[in-house]
Amino acid sequence: MTTKTSAPAPAQNPTLPAISFEFFPPKTEEMERGLWEVINRLAPLNPDFVSVTYGAGGSTRERTHATIARILSETSLVPAAHLTCVDATRADIDEVVARYHDVGVRHIVALRGDPTTGIGTAYAPHPDGYQQSSDLVAAIRRNYSDMEVSVSAYPEKHPESASLAADIDALKAKVDAGATRAITQFFFDNDLYYRYLDRVRAAGITIPIVPGILPVQNFKLAKNFAARAGATVPGWLAAKFEGLDEDTDTRRLVAATVAAAQVQKLAKQGVENFHFYTMNRADLVVAICHVLGIRPAGARQAA
Ligand code: FAD
Repeated sequence: MTTKTSAPAPAQNPTLPAISFEFFPPKTEEMERGLWEVINRLAPLNPDFVSVTYGAGGSTRERTHATIARILSETSLVPAAHLTCVDATRADIDEVVARYHDVGVRHIVALRGDPTTGIGTAYAPHPDGYQQSSDLVAAIRRNYSDMEVSVSAYPEKHPESASLAADIDALKAKVDAGATRAITQFFFDNDLYYRYLDRVRAAGITIPIVPGILPVQNFKLAKNFAARAGATVPGWLAAKFEGLDEDTDTRRLVAATVAAAQVQKLAKQGVENFHFYTMNRADLVVAICHVLGIRPAGARQAA
């Protein structure tokens, strides 16, 4: 007779938020090694899915595909492939989606993408391409009923949108076309997200609007991203990083504190999903997840 002596595995706390991680496809072998260290470190946190971005104008088409294929073959993670409409015909894009479907991908993050002429310039769709991201969403859903489709959402509106109302109409068009989840552009002021969510729900949009969280690895860089994305960098955030440009260690501690406070407040308000812009780094994300109570698989407990 055998006696069970091991303690029962801690029950997964159903109140723990679900998480997902975003990576960009590596350019060099060294970056690839780095990314895989990150993936192996983050995988035990049991994300719902991990997504891989698509470079401007489809420049990373093959690298995105290779990263997704490796995730599928070497891990049990669920990959989501980003895809944009930029500079490609509908046939080109349909082929990319078909390739993904063939290797077992069942989740696409469908985007319009930025103009090849640069952010801030007018977007001109390819004459034979999908004109709007909602057209891409509709095509994917039409061709593959088993494909999950996430889309973008902009709590501070997309920089090209005339108004937040127009932007929410565009989100509604994507949802009507079959989008199953929206992931937000990053934001630092949670009130922006709450206000946006109120307006989105008032517009009859019911899909999850998952907050995109950017842990600030490098404040200067984050400020640059924010300027391009039309996201506000609050004065209080700038003040927290003031004088730390040359002090990486302190900067990292401050970054972890800021992002942990942000997600904890969101979680207290009932937010159940978080998407982390990892920038292919693990440390801050692991720390923030830990604060949320998310531990490596088998060792989860409430915060
Ligand atoms: P859309 O939602 O398509 O909106 C773009 C503009 O068109 C807006 O002004 C909107 O109001 C308008 N619009 C949209 N649909 C309609 C419609 N049906 N009718 C009328 N107007 C409409 N970029 C990359 O290059 N690669 C990536 O991998 C990538 N991943 C991203 C992931 C997330 C979560 C987010 C938030 C952004 C990502 N981006 C990525 C950036 C994105 O490509 C840019 O912000 C781009 O400028 C817009 O693409 P979109 O799909 O977000 O915009």
